Amino acid sequence: MKLLAGVIRPYAWGSRTALAEMRGAPSPSAHPEAELWFGAHPASPATVESGGDLLSLIEDDPENQLGADVLDRFGARLPYLVKVLAAQEPLSLQAHPSAEQAADGFDRENAEGLRFDAPERNYRDGWHKPELVVALTEFDVLAGFRDPHVTVELLRSLQVPALDPYLGLLAGQPDDTGLRAVFTTWLTLPDSVIGTLVPDTLDGAVRVLERGEQRFALELRSLLELGEAYPGDPGVLASLLLNRIHLNPGEALYVSAGKLHAYLQGTAVEVMANSDNVLRGGLTPKHIDVPELLRVLDFTPVSVDELTPETQSVGAERVYMTPAPEFRMSRVHLDGTGMHQPSSISFGVSGPQIVAVLSGRITVTAGDGHDVTASACDAVWIPDADSDVVVHAASSNTEFVRVFVP
Ligand SMILES: [Zn+2]
Repeated sequence: MKLLAGVIRPYAWGSRTALAEMRGAPSPSAHPEAELWFGAHPASPATVESGGDLLSLIEDDPENQLGADVLDRFGARLPYLVKVLAAQEPLSLQAHPSAEQAADGFDRENAEGLRFDAPERNYRDGWHKPELVVALTEFDVLAGFRDPHVTVELLRSLQVPALDPYLGLLAGQPDDTGLRAVFTTWLTLPDSVIGTLVPDTLDGAVRVLERGEQRFALELRSLLELGEAYPGDPGVLASLLLNRIHLNPGEALYVSAGKLHAYLQGTAVEVMANSDNVLRGGLTPKHIDVPELLRVLDFTPVSVDELTPETQSVGAERVYMTPAPEFRMSRVHLDGTGMHQPSSISFGVSGPQIVAVLSGRITVTAGDGHDVTASACDAVWIPDADSDVVVHAASSNTEFVRVFVP
């Protein structure tokens, strides 16, 4: 077992307070702190407190770190990546490729001779990137295409004549084909058209909100916020096609291949297959590749329920039941006083595990008696060779997530 320090990614959309307050550092921080990575991704492997990083630890001894089964199924690499995400501003409108699309895209861009760190690269590795996000604070998300019948009602409520052609298109074909047609048209409209269509739509939203109509108030407020942050960006219009989801702490969302999404605001913990493959369609200063995004997008309408993973609670542990073969995540509350929750929990699964502390302090003890103590924003690496562990709360109100290979 090893104590891990995560790596902070300072993207501009990050909060200056959330991660600093979690780890008890001065707040606000000097720079935005958007993501805290715990994993072995080559771009930012976690630091091992006793020296080196998690990537080299695994590469030097994959058999003992990952175990024979994971090594056999996924090769000599950690199959997942864990992040704490602290969004002050919206993240880009994006989707992730399927396993097959990622392998093809990576080969294609390699054959084109694109550098691995080239900004115009879409496929930074050959892996898919299903992701599970679990809210730590209230967390707002746009994800998956909403039932087009409802979207037609939303567009109609705006009473914006310039939207009529698209409203007609979707009303005439309220399915994946209609959604593809409207989305594709919006994302490829000339700047001159977008330059008036977006402001007209925003004006319509203001009028609806001023009339006090509540039905789509959340959706329209998000539209206005996006319009302010990214004026003239067709992604602002595209937001109207997506489910607007508000997660309370502990609630989760599973984003599979091809599902369009944008995380808007809040703090969450996220686990994904160990990949950095993102196709962006807007709401970002980063590289956008609309044709490639359109190739991978799944336009099938989905309900919020379909995006919500089942959970199973066993004692102090709540497991999010997601289908990706690379990861499973659970959330655990312990109470060092033992008054409200158990003060310890034991885990006996094989394969590599990461325990990331969200609040309080824990001590993890391996079968051979050696232990590691970790505080909020630290993590503990539990290799396959140490698979039987007991976690004790070293403070009251202790919370952590555990990630493992199912
Ligand atoms: Zn994503």
